[in-house]
Amino acid sequence: MKILVAECKQEVSSFNPVATLYEHFTINRGQELLAYHRGIESEIGGALEVFGARSDVQLVPLWGGRANSAGALEQDDFERLAAEFLQAVEDHREGAAAFYFSLHGAMAAAVELDPEGYLLREARALLGPQIPIVISLDLHGILTERMLQHCDALTIYHTYPHVDLSDTGARAARLLLRILDEGLTPTIARVVVPALVRGDELKTATGIYGKSIRQAQELEATGVALAAGMMIGNPFTDVPELCSQSIVVTNGDADAAGCAALDMAAAFWEQRQSLQAPLVSVQSAIASARQLQGTAIFADAADATSSGASGDSNAILAALLDAGYDGTVLLPIVDAPAVRLARETGLGQIGEFKLGGACDPRFVPVKLQARIVMLATGPYYFESWGNEQDAGDTAVLQAGKMTIIVTTRPVYHFDRSLFLAHGRDPQNFDLVVVKSPHCQDRFFIDWAAANYNVDAPGSTSANLQSLGHTICRRPMFPLDDGVVFTPAVQIFPLPAAETR
Ligand SMILES: [Zn+2]
Repeated sequence: MKILVAECKQEVSSFNPVATLYEHFTINRGQELLAYHRGIESEIGGALEVFGARSDVQLVPLWGGRANSAGALEQDDFERLAAEFLQAVEDHREGAAAFYFSLHGAMAAAVELDPEGYLLREARALLGPQIPIVISLDLHGILTERMLQHCDALTIYHTYPHVDLSDTGARAARLLLRILDEGLTPTIARVVVPALVRGDELKTATGIYGKSIRQAQELEATGVALAAGMMIGNPFTDVPELCSQSIVVTNGDADAAGCAALDMAAAFWEQRQSLQAPLVSVQSAIASARQLQGTAIFADAADATSSGASGDSNAILAALLDAGYDGTVLLPIVDAPAVRLARETGLGQIGEFKLGGACDPRFVPVKLQARIVMLATGPYYFESWGNEQDAGDTAVLQAGKMTIIVTTRPVYHFDRSLFLAHGRDPQNFDLVVVKSPHCQDRFFIDWAAANYNVDAPGSTSANLQSLGHTICRRPMFPLDDGVVFTPAVQIFPLPAAETR
């Protein structure tokens, strides 16, 4: 059985003014795709383990594109990515038995607001209606009607923070093989919930959202569903179909799928108020941190590069300077011009820097005199997953008791990789800024004296009403008051007459 494999993954924040370009994508063609994913914690990595155990499967890697989170893709750049992917499908479709497509689900281009739906529709057009297409998605994805029309089944992450990438890919691969081996005919039910959510209660191991996930896992474990999940969308991807939604896939049993999806959606809606992020003002967090013995973590969800923010917020830096905070501070910032200045000025020298606002004009640059204590370049490795991150040229600046790691490009901060790669252990500081939606227990919370989820401005603020959505379907909780949830099941595939 010839099984096609491809990937297209990015998550955008519509409120980040820095557009994503073709060049920001890492492209893998043909066997490069499998070579990259083999043995790493990724969906295709997990799928390879399952497919690899079968001697009757011939894997045909098509194309893979993935980029770090940022602003929406330029339209031309998306079209270039799409053309490359579709050419690969065209070149290898002959004799294909099935297609596994690893997606994130929260992409958006300047004009095409449903890129994944476009790719699936066009791939379906090339492959024909008989070839099973199974996709995997991040639970932050925005699963659109068009995506549901042009795939046969899907699997969705069951963890946040995400630690089941491989497992989600493995589940997709096993489901795909069952469709081929047993002739299953999947039916997908979904119920859209008009709510956007954020905050620590989303941690699936400890938070309220975990209950929804356990419902989905129970459906899979008992065999009621072939796959199930509770998607919450990426609240920063302002596209028409942004929402939360329950998804249940059964073997042709629309009633069972619909009932289970309704149950999950109703339970989720009940918890919507608890699934918001309690935030503390930066000023009161600083006041509290002064009293602390041990390290204070300031989680700056509003500039979370992994959620799609620009990473150039200086809001906390400015507040610390204003407040005259006198403890030791470790904080990261994206500022390419400052890195260039540091390199020109030279290691060990003192420079006059203007930090912040290099990408997002909402931040006014902060003037700061600092010594350049380290210059670095080249990739380093995530402690989370072991794969590469590349911040580009990087400078470590020392301004009084402040240690500022200035990168050329945004990198992810949900673990300590950037700090440790530049020789700075966050445990040695009084206050550490972590530009991430949450601080993970194992990396920060377990040893820190306190964690403050601060309400700073930024393109991925957990203060969802501050963002200014203009495109997503309204009314939407918590953007609007008095939102009413009218549960309605949608079943896919649609009857042939309704397929667009
Ligand atoms: Zn996610």
